[in-house]
Amino acid sequence: MKKLVILGGGESGVGTAILGKKQGFDVFLSDGGAVKPHYQEILNLNGIRWEQQQHTEAEILSAHVVMKSPGIPDKASIVQKIRESKIPVVSEIEFAIPYTNATIIAITGSNGKTTTTLLTYHLLKNGGLHVGLGGNIGKSFAWQVAEQDFDCYVLEVSSFQLDDSYTFKPHIAIITNLSPDHLDRYNYQYESYIASKFRITMNQSENDYLIYDADDETLVQFLSKIDTKATKIPFSITKPLPVGGTLNENTMKLKLNDDNFSIDTAHLALEGKHNVKNAMAATSVAMLMKIRKETIRESLSNFQGVEHRLEKVLKIQNVQYINDSKATNVNATFFALDSMTTPTVWIVGGVDKGNDYTELMALVREKVKAIICLGVDNRKIIDAFGNVVDVMVEVGSMQDAVRTAQRIAEKGDTVLLSPACASFDLFENYEDRGRQFKLAVQNL
Ligand code: ADP
Repeated sequence: MKKLVILGGGESGVGTAILGKKQGFDVFLSDGGAVKPHYQEILNLNGIRWEQQQHTEAEILSAHVVMKSPGIPDKASIVQKIRESKIPVVSEIEFAIPYTNATIIAITGSNGKTTTTLLTYHLLKNGGLHVGLGGNIGKSFAWQVAEQDFDCYVLEVSSFQLDDSYTFKPHIAIITNLSPDHLDRYNYQYESYIASKFRITMNQSENDYLIYDADDETLVQFLSKIDTKATKIPFSITKPLPVGGTLNENTMKLKLNDDNFSIDTAHLALEGKHNVKNAMAATSVAMLMKIRKETIRESLSNFQGVEHRLEKVLKIQNVQYINDSKATNVNATFFALDSMTTPTVWIVGGVDKGNDYTELMALVREKVKAIICLGVDNRKIIDAFGNVVDVMVEVGSMQDAVRTAQRIAEKGDTVLLSPACASFDLFENYEDRGRQFKLAVQNL
């Protein structure tokens, strides 16, 4: 019997354990931290052996294959020992793919993955397809393959999942865009991070599709250097293209093979130029999957949006409060500021990831009337924008930030939380930060 060892007892680890067991592997799951009680119960119910707070080497190094959860870095000592022992290490997706015949749509990129994944799923589901949603979102992909399986999956895949994928060959791949992120996991080499994203297309054939942002120069340059056989579908909001997605005044247009689609951007549920790009990518998939045009149109208009991504919270005394807590890097905040249509009180700051604020300068000058710094160390923000805005305030809590914003904002203004930074100095994670923002706004 082949032995499958799983590192990490979270959603993807437990899901892979269930699938491995069903496929007849001898499964052992090991978590260096704590496994949540409800996962413990599931493992026990399924007769899967597991451990927590330790890695028993005799168990682990006797594996035929190891599934490493995406959160575990390569430099972890147990991972190094596994690699030294020449045991293959695979991602959840790589492990699960052989056990499904579904059509796979895989989405990666630096920003916009979750939004594009959920929008694509929404279009396909409304189009009547029997479609699953997985990857970094919701229920584990492997788990779904084990339990119900779908005809088609929309998967959000991170660079970490792609790093441990070797045969993965999605029918449709999307690379939303590229900007430096997670470089700590790539020896601070931007090229390595990009190369990892492009693994999404490395096994694709002519019958597969690669949808990508043609406005992203880094992406286009890298694409020209690699060897992918996939049929390419670019999209752009700045220039005309012979195929793919384009923006003509306020009309978003798609042209694939002999198929055309167009919609007025006023009818898109999600605002902001970046969301036109996300809509182009998702619509391309829907067209390739032969969803009816009317359904695509309706679904683009009634999509509910995603929490913490330019999420409209409340309008109080004619001031709109917007939660963009998921903007953990400068590029995401760029698009948030770009989509502001009224004078903006901007709440920014947190853990700096080596941010360069130069690209925000023009937008801040044009749109921001006051900056509220919400971080333990705000020096870089103050240095960058101190001379650009009239009002710059440092605060120590979300409640303070929101109350200060309310005092400064006048009728017709917007208060935007778009931190451009990670959240770990004052919050548990970006969700916690976003929720605290919403609560503070509701309490005004
Ligand atoms: P990801 O899953 O890649 O982190 P999300 O959809 O969660 O992406 O969005 C993360 C942040 O990036 C949000 O603040 C959102 O407003 C912004 N964003 C969304 N789509 C794009 C895009 N195409 N380009 C740049 N920023 C984007």
